[in-house]
Amino acid sequence: MAAPNGDDVGEGTDPHVHVQADLGGAAVSRQITAATFGLAADAPARVSTGCGLTVAYARTSTRPGSVTCLACREYAHRRHLDAAAWAEQWRRQPTTDADLAAHAARAAAHHRDLARQFADPRR
Ligand SMILES: [Zn+2]
Repeated sequence: MAAPNGDDVGEGTDPHVHVQADLGGAAVSRQITAATFGLAADAPARVSTGCGLTVAYARTSTRPGSVTCLACREYAHRRHLDAAAWAEQWRRQPTTDADLAAHAARAAAHHRDLARQFADPRR
């Protein structure tokens, strides 16, 4: 629930750690930009989450074991399964060469593993 100023009502009492709606993709982009061009962009102060809130960047994590918001865990689980399915589609394309197919297979396995961890943080 967002207040007119854009802040989420009740965040001060929200004890949970969330996932970013892009699952940290923007942070990865910032890291690549910094590594490639030597430019260090600041992390945004506030970010959208998988459960539909806007929270402080510091209240989010990409590590499955750190995310305590159940809705965000379910969101990340689904998004990683979608990403794994997308990578599998790439792997099976007749025009995909062996190197790209191997890369796609690793990406699919990586996303399946993350999906599993978001579904069950003890694994
Ligand atoms: Zn959340």
